[in-house]
Amino acid sequence: SCIRKNEMQIEEIKKELEIELGKKLYLHSIGTMEEAEKLASVHGCDKSKAKIAGLLHDCWKGRCKDNLKHSKESAELAKTKFDVKDDDILNAIMYHTTGRVNMTLLEKIIFIADKIEPNRHYPGVEEIRREAYINLDEAIIKSLESTIEYVKNRNLVLDMESVNTLNYLKEGK
Ligand code: FE
Repeated sequence: SCIRKNEMQIEEIKKELEIELGKKLYLHSIGTMEEAEKLASVHGCDKSKAKIAGLLHDCWKGRCKDNLKHSKESAELAKTKFDVKDDDILNAIMYHTTGRVNMTLLEKIIFIADKIEPNRHYPGVEEIRREAYINLDEAIIKSLESTIEYVKNRNLVLDMESVNTLNYLKEGK
């Protein structure tokens, strides 16, 4: 069946990622996959797509930890090495760090699953985690605001795409 085929694909990907990623990043990927599946179930999204996107969202990060580039590279590797053909899955991986204007439901789920999976510990995570199961947009707004605050306080480079996403979601309220 289709579900069985997906489960086999996921088991194959897990085996490769366990070698490809370090332990910490591998556990983060599994955590994101499981969180994405739960969110998909609550918000009425395709659970198989959410699992695959969550599992692969950082698949390139083991090779280079450049935070601003790893999303695009991970989407590329998901396509070329892991044979993912679905554009919604690839876009969810591509935009998981900053989000973007007009995000799909799957893109929102992967964005927030990455930030709240059980291995994530930072001030405010509990509130964002709770909100993600009530109002996805609100959870993403809180998450982006906390990221932007973090970047400001440390004098780091702010990715404008995060600001665009935040403004877009706030306008939609
Ligand atoms: Fe991640």
